[in-house]
Amino acid sequence: MIDGKVAVILFDMGSEEVLRIGEREWALVAAADGTRDIEGIVIAATRGGARVELDEARKFLASLEDRGLVVRIPEPEAKTSSPKTEETLPSPDLPVRPLPGYSLSCDRSGRCCRMYSTVLFALPEAERAAAVLPDRRIGPVSRTRAFLPVRGSIPGGAVAVVANNGACGYLDSDGACSIHRAAGADAKPKGCSVFPAMFIDDGEEVRVSIKTECACVLNSVNHSGGEPLVDPAITRSSQLDPVVVVTVLPDPISVTSERTEPRKVVVAWIRQWLDMPTPPDVARACWAMADALPSGLAAALEAWSGERAAPETAAVVPFVAALARRAAVRTRVDAQWRSEVDRVRRVGAWIAATAVTCKDPQLMAEVLQVPPIDADREAFFVRAAAFGYAVCDEDFGEVQCGLRDLAVKLWLARAMPTFVSEGVQDEEPLSALEAWLRAYGVWRYVLDAKTSTPVPSPNPRD
Ligand code: SF4
Repeated sequence: MIDGKVAVILFDMGSEEVLRIGEREWALVAAADGTRDIEGIVIAATRGGARVELDEARKFLASLEDRGLVVRIPEPEAKTSSPKTEETLPSPDLPVRPLPGYSLSCDRSGRCCRMYSTVLFALPEAERAAAVLPDRRIGPVSRTRAFLPVRGSIPGGAVAVVANNGACGYLDSDGACSIHRAAGADAKPKGCSVFPAMFIDDGEEVRVSIKTECACVLNSVNHSGGEPLVDPAITRSSQLDPVVVVTVLPDPISVTSERTEPRKVVVAWIRQWLDMPTPPDVARACWAMADALPSGLAAALEAWSGERAAPETAAVVPFVAALARRAAVRTRVDAQWRSEVDRVRRVGAWIAATAVTCKDPQLMAEVLQVPPIDADREAFFVRAAAFGYAVCDEDFGEVQCGLRDLAVKLWLARAMPTFVSEGVQDEEPLSALEAWLRAYGVWRYVLDAKTSTPVPSPNPRD
């Protein structure tokens, strides 16, 4: 629902493409679930009230196929002798270790229910929500369309709940989850109950860290009495709910484009890093670590300590410029279809305005001199990322990129209060930036800056 009107929006998180389609086209896509041939798809769409010709359907589905949004059922695989790529396997049963000294006080503002393109429910969770709140309707959206398949017809696959101006359809106007309100926390989808905790198997233990994507995560820093990240009774990974996603840290890990280290060496290095005292400016320290990594892990730890001068502006500007380019593209797209009251649109415009201005070398030189606005929050932001191995995320390709990304985000968040506009006055800059970059693929700026890849052109296409 966008400003009270029904719209069908397809997000392709792989290509970051946003496609807005009409009701007739949606009827075709919904019928193309892998159970019918093209004639059957047309019959199913027609039965659903969408009159469409066979040729028209063929052309439309071919155009989706060209974009990788629809795939043909593959032919049975021919036997091949080429070996599969090796994957690091989960460890059998490990101690569970939550981020020490931290508990979360959720402010129940519902911010995190208004940030992501798609809120996923497992099918039983969707059925439970519909049973708990049988009269829940978002505008004219019928009950049968309150949940739509995320892909194909895979039995038991996840479904996407209808969104209302970018917010989950079960979010009430006061920021409360209506499912939680009606039937308690256990009735919510598991993903919502677990969020923002993250679970990482490093081969020695399963660490429970936190995504710093919500203001309440940072507001909880130095406060006690909140909720633990994981039930204290759970001490072994075998006790975790099977639906909890545990990411397995790869082995080996790329530290720079030239250097790879065994996982256990990187795990030990991160432990040493976490045991070190926090320097006065963690953004400068992260950047200095990234600079030092080519000389080895020990050199990077040395770079973390003590006072650091600001880095060369010319070294940082390409990263900010790459972020500005991606943010500008994303916000132009959002402005074409998102409501003005949509949090994603407002936060994106704020970030884009900040990055576009700060890519000016003179201004960026000034930003690099800005001291931390809240040193404890910034230190926690880096500690949570290190504890949860966010700097080792395979998406970055190498730890060096992960460290540069941390530094750039900290500097931009320090500049963001200068660019506050209508609708973002109550936002917490660092967590809003972190959430938006991850949710909409804008984090890839760090790869653009490294490889100077041009940013994809704007969409959506109708
Ligand atoms: S189900 Fe509830 S907690 Fe989950 S996103 Fe929707 S409103 Fe938020």
